[in-house]
Amino acid sequence: MTLNQASVVENISLIRSRIKGSAGGRPVSLVVVTKGFGVEAVRAALAVGELELGENYAQELIAKHAELTDDERSFVQWHFLGRLQSKKIRALAPIVAVWQSIDRLTLIDELARRAPGARIFIQANLSGEEQKGGAALSEVPMLVDHAQTAGLDVRGLMGVGAAGDAERSVAGFEALVALSDQLGLSERSVGMTEDLELAVSAGSTMVRVGSAIFGPRSAPLRG
Ligand SMILES: *Cc1c(COP(=O)(O)O)cnc(C)c1O
Repeated sequence: MTLNQASVVENISLIRSRIKGSAGGRPVSLVVVTKGFGVEAVRAALAVGELELGENYAQELIAKHAELTDDERSFVQWHFLGRLQSKKIRALAPIVAVWQSIDRLTLIDELARRAPGARIFIQANLSGEEQKGGAALSEVPMLVDHAQTAGLDVRGLMGVGAAGDAERSVAGFEALVALSDQLGLSERSVGMTEDLELAVSAGSTMVRVGSAIFGPRSAPLRG
């Protein structure tokens, strides 16, 4: 798959119809994940209009944002999805609209200081794979409470499915949806290229999709 504007636009529209096919009429939003691709991927995707874009790495996001014009920036809301270090929050705060990977108290406290009222998701670990980040489900209620007390705008819960294990992923998605209901949080950010239908059927309100739009990240992509 080459990174040309027509195929990116077509892929976004395909993803939107795949989402619709599983959503049963519920609105489900799409975060277009540009990590691993250059600013040309952002520009190609912007052909569809206003976008929510996702990135995992602080330096990559800062560099990409710096390359956009003010006009282009006005169409973009950046979601931060990756493992986050407290010391990066200060530099990211002017850029990030939604912080999806908040999984510990120190991040909540630093965000409350550097980005008061920030929109966040508490990330739960659904797969037991530590490198994916996220708090244990049992810790999530305490983190939500702490963030709300600190004045942050907790939109919902975020999670990553278990790679290659549909059954385990669905169990994790359902647990996350049940917990967000229990906590009175309306948003659930689950579902990626591999498992978006499973996640949407389980009650996701927001999917985050990269490779189904831009191609595999390991391939040569610039051009
Ligand atoms: C990379 C990533 C995505 C997008 O994954 P694809 O498989 O490319 O759709 C979504 N969410 C998170 C947290 C990611 O790290």
